[in-house]
Amino acid sequence: MTKTHIAVRQDSRRHVRALIGWFDQFARTLPWRAPPGTPADPYRVWLSEIMLQQTTVAAVTPYFQEFLKRWPDINALAAAPLDDVLVAWQGLGYYARARNLVKCAKVVARDHGGVFPRDAQALLQLPGIGPYTAAAIAAIAFGRPEAVVDGNVERVIARLYAVEAPLPAAKPELRRLAAALTPGKRPGDYAQAMMDLGATICTPRNPKCAICPVADGCRARARGDPETYPRRDRRANKPVRRGTAWFTVNEKGEILLRRRPEKGLLGGMMEVPGSPWREGGSLEPALPEGVGPWRVVAAPVAHVFTHFRLELTVAWTRVRAKEGEKLAPEGVWAAPARLADYALPSVMKKVCAAGLKAVEGDG
Ligand code: SF4
Repeated sequence: MTKTHIAVRQDSRRHVRALIGWFDQFARTLPWRAPPGTPADPYRVWLSEIMLQQTTVAAVTPYFQEFLKRWPDINALAAAPLDDVLVAWQGLGYYARARNLVKCAKVVARDHGGVFPRDAQALLQLPGIGPYTAAAIAAIAFGRPEAVVDGNVERVIARLYAVEAPLPAAKPELRRLAAALTPGKRPGDYAQAMMDLGATICTPRNPKCAICPVADGCRARARGDPETYPRRDRRANKPVRRGTAWFTVNEKGEILLRRRPEKGLLGGMMEVPGSPWREGGSLEPALPEGVGPWRVVAAPVAHVFTHFRLELTVAWTRVRAKEGEKLAPEGVWAAPARLADYALPSVMKKVCAAGLKAVEGDG
């Protein structure tokens, strides 16, 4: 156990107590929230979290209220014509989110009797729900002790523990610290308190340490340079592209690979099929129709190229070979033990390692 981890154990109770006490007094009033101390409606948490991806609270609020008026629960939304939802979504952007919203509502209505599953792993299986949203719903609506970690929470944690490793390499460490801090009691209120702290007090610039509930134990504040955390790799100024890798195994345990186009980045090398890599894209999984069901690996794969950084969500599925080939008609099936025989770039080796670990973990 590292010094930092020992410190986390010692500090975490104090931090959590202070944060929840502060939340009880100063929680932001948001239309999707329940009062502190009471579990929230999973439908509201889910709808708000999907809307809030890449959009501000102020922009989302009127849309959220309108959606709730028209479709007050998951069954109502499941029954809504897609076009009506797309029209109501106009102005929020990233329409894939609206399409996934309806898909997810239909799956919950059809396969789960209109009731959201309660744990993060089951939530992750639903269309459009990635690791962050799954953890947020499980913690806030169902009181599960899931670490809810986004950029705001990473910043707060990096400051609380003065984490010197730069982003993005520090991400696993920040996630570990976040998980160690997450309390068994009132994890949803704790998660929302962290969100509020990051949004209103521990802001990227000029953090308001003088009124911060965890100022006493904050190492970055003690050092006098909180704004310099999280540390950033100089290379991290590069733009970030995001996409989803579809890690597909057949009945023999072989992995589907395809060749990249000859021209362009990693030209002619092999890859795990996946969605396009888009700048400003989301880490929420983009999954193909007609193949699946997909399960999502919690930690995305990160890789730095010369001109951009790449973050790939890894989703995996087991299918019959014929079905998998729909993803890559020219693809090949590679035995895990023979992967070294294929021209896989480093990023794809990372994807295969993450995918294989998930498949093996599933038995
Ligand atoms: S004391 Fe300052 S830097 Fe530390 S968590 Fe609070 S606002 Fe952030």
